[in-house]
Amino acid sequence: MTQSIIPMYIDGQFTQGAATWTIPVLNPATQAELGQLPVGTATDVEHAVAAAKAAFIDWRETPVSERARLMMRYQEAVRDHHDALAEIICEDLGKNFEDAKGDVFRGLEVIEQAIGIAQTSMGEYAGNVARGVDTYSIHQPMGVFAGITPFNFPAMIPLWMFPLAIAAGNTFVLKPSEQDPLCPVRLTELFLEAGAPANILQLLHGDKDTANALITHPDIQGVSFVGSVPVGRHIYETAARAGKRVQAMAGAKNHMVVMPDADKKAVINALMGASCGAAGQRCMAISVVVLVGEAQAWLPEIVDAMRALTPNYWKEPGAAYGPVVSQAAKTRIEALIEVGAEEGAELVVDGRGYAVPGYPNGNWVGPTLFANVTSEMQIYQEEVFGPVLCQMNAADLDEALAIINASTVGNGTSIFTASGAAARRFQHEVEVGMVGINVPIPVPLPFFSFTGWKQSFFGDLHAYGKQAVKFYTRTKTVTARWKDSPQSQGANMSIQLK
Ligand code: NAD
Repeated sequence: MTQSIIPMYIDGQFTQGAATWTIPVLNPATQAELGQLPVGTATDVEHAVAAAKAAFIDWRETPVSERARLMMRYQEAVRDHHDALAEIICEDLGKNFEDAKGDVFRGLEVIEQAIGIAQTSMGEYAGNVARGVDTYSIHQPMGVFAGITPFNFPAMIPLWMFPLAIAAGNTFVLKPSEQDPLCPVRLTELFLEAGAPANILQLLHGDKDTANALITHPDIQGVSFVGSVPVGRHIYETAARAGKRVQAMAGAKNHMVVMPDADKKAVINALMGASCGAAGQRCMAISVVVLVGEAQAWLPEIVDAMRALTPNYWKEPGAAYGPVVSQAAKTRIEALIEVGAEEGAELVVDGRGYAVPGYPNGNWVGPTLFANVTSEMQIYQEEVFGPVLCQMNAADLDEALAIINASTVGNGTSIFTASGAAARRFQHEVEVGMVGINVPIPVPLPFFSFTGWKQSFFGDLHAYGKQAVKFYTRTKTVTARWKDSPQSQGANMSIQLK
């Protein structure tokens, strides 16, 4: 294995597996090569799943308190390496340091939740359901789960998955994004350093072929996916057809509604971070702002605030956000901006051709704002996944709700207002799974679940929280009679318990 190969972790070994080709992993601000990613083959999938399946036999018998203690040690290890993990994300994905730290922290919170697995996976008990008969339910692990993760949260999203799955007694095969795999490698090393038994987590690198071989493998019980809408739909349909339990968290187009009674300064500050933070590469980014009534007069100030945002390399002072993940992503975003301009949206801030002094090769896209967008435009309908904000107008809350409820996706939304009545009506009527009231990016903490709606989610049970504990276990319900000579009264020919 050459020095620059980014290792998988399969069957107790850091390895390049049976890969016959590699993908270069580049720093998006400089194009410096950070390593070569070996693309896992069907043989690697076989080895990883077989090792995880063998490890399940012992891991499922490991007492729940021991599993929880592993998560305590892992939580400590990730906390101790918090900033170092964030620096890996800065180099591999381009986030600024504060944002990269948030990526690690939001994952850490899910490990904290996994520590409570004894409580969250408890069953129910009903005594004396018939004379001498009790019924109870227990939540048992299922076997090997697979996780397929996107590029945009290389710490948080893997940590949404494997800590809870493993704490619940399963084993796990993680296939992270091929675009920024370095943080998942470090997370795997830290898991082992925290004392994880060798094969309860496998790290498998690869592309879509690797992912498809994994999700259809006969020994995979369930699949947790996060990524775009078309891939999410494909993963859900393919894995469900192969008999797997699936949760697929997918893409988005999130609206912020601004009522004229809102605090203007708070709105503009929230909008900048929520639209352009992480270069707009968040599934909960605000990509549409709906200005209601007199709030439409605030547009010039929004334009000024957008123009003041400066992307840069994370080590430079004042980097509002970093480059987009790849040259392909930059080309796609710039092409969509061109389409928006051609279809008649008013391009008031144009981020194409943005240059950052000292970093001529970075995948820079400047802040971009389209005004007077309408819902039939492609720039509105497609998830741009860049620092591009669309502004729409609505006469009143009814119109704003109608715009949002007609959308095919429904991950997150927010309303800024001083009116409790408007806020309550909005949260009640909006057809979106996560709602912020004077909060721009309402990502729930992990004692709740991440509850996208419509095509932002395919499946039944959502990521993290109580729903994920259900996702990673199956319920067994036991009815037990403990009394002397129960059948001595003769045969009971009825289904009723006697
Ligand atoms: P993506 O869908 O391109 O890739 C995600 C993963 O799927 C990667 O590991 C990739 O290797 C794999 N993959 C890609 N094509 C595949 C195919 N045809 N078959 C099987 N596997 C395939 O997503 P991305 O560009 O890495 O991430 C950005 C997307 O993720 C955005 O759409 C964003 O909204 C979404 N996202 C959603 C959430 C959420 O919780 N709803 C969170 C973060 C990101």
